[in-house]
Amino acid sequence: MTGRVIPLGRIAGIPIRLDSSWFLIFALVTWTLAAGYYPAEFKGWPAWEYWVMGAATAVMFFVSVLLHELSHSLVARRFGTSVRSITLFIFGGVSQLGGGTTSATREFLIAAAGPAASLLLAALFWVLESAAVGVAPALALLRYLAYINAMLGLFNLIPGFPLDGGRVFKAIVWGVTHDAHRALRVAGTVGRVIGYLFVLFGVWQMFGGNFVNGLWISFIGWFLENAAMSEMQGQAILEILTGHKVREAMRPDYTSVPADRTLQQLVDGHVLVHGQRSFLVERDGRVVGLLTLHGITRQPRPSWPTVRAEDVMIPRTKMRTTRRDADLRDVLEHMDRDGVNQLPVIENSHPLGMVSREDIIGFLRDHVVSHR
Ligand SMILES: [Zn+2]
Repeated sequence: MTGRVIPLGRIAGIPIRLDSSWFLIFALVTWTLAAGYYPAEFKGWPAWEYWVMGAATAVMFFVSVLLHELSHSLVARRFGTSVRSITLFIFGGVSQLGGGTTSATREFLIAAAGPAASLLLAALFWVLESAAVGVAPALALLRYLAYINAMLGLFNLIPGFPLDGGRVFKAIVWGVTHDAHRALRVAGTVGRVIGYLFVLFGVWQMFGGNFVNGLWISFIGWFLENAAMSEMQGQAILEILTGHKVREAMRPDYTSVPADRTLQQLVDGHVLVHGQRSFLVERDGRVVGLLTLHGITRQPRPSWPTVRAEDVMIPRTKMRTTRRDADLRDVLEHMDRDGVNQLPVIENSHPLGMVSREDIIGFLRDHVVSHR
């Protein structure tokens, strides 16, 4: 993911989003179709017709990618794994699933669902193609969609984690060894090796006169290697955190503000002076909500002198909190799942401190260093 994401709406309740990098690949696919595929298949069309067909086909290509991702997501949801969103980006699509899967069989089915959908679509378009004899543009479109879906299915079955094939491989190792961590280490290492092989193959292609394709393959390899490594690191972090409690990483200091304080007073008195990013909101000595810097900046600036903390705070009932003896590992997983950066530590309505991602990273750093 590189930059801004554009929401496209929901399918089956799942938010669908476009990463800004997607436009680059959309333009590239449209161009290769309009300047290469269609002119080679059909001579003598007016130029605009190549471009319209190119763009329409590119849209159908990304609909195919979306169906692949939806297939992963719907199977995941069926097994109780939450689906946060599906994002289309420069290297295809990705389903953001909440939390880890609970069994090897489920992971296997979730991973296999995408390629299975793509291969089914390829078969469907192939059947339609044989039915569309005579209608030339439709024929070309269906032939391309059959081909591209087959490619999507087969490419993703390469056993290089985090590609689907690598996830299938990980699930199999997990099923055989009954050790999810070991399975990730094995599949992640294989995934990194395959990533490097892609890079090498791409470079070889580049020097063999196939520069653009080679560069693209190298980029994909580099992306895969990075993704495999960061998943392994994420797992290693969770392993270090296992058994440690929030009280070991939390900061006992927090800032609380009265519920009737205006945003302007807060900005002048706290945010700018102390660089504070979130406040517990209190009334009569009890915590009633959480106010974040993000919540403040979402309000138009002219309203700051009149809007009060309690008007824009996250109320206590919706506020996510944690306890001193909660597992750090669970807390980090919750933060990832809910997309929050910090949690107040509260017991019996009394604030005890805050724990943030930075605090956990600091804890990890100290912990790793002290164990060397
Ligand atoms: Zn997939």
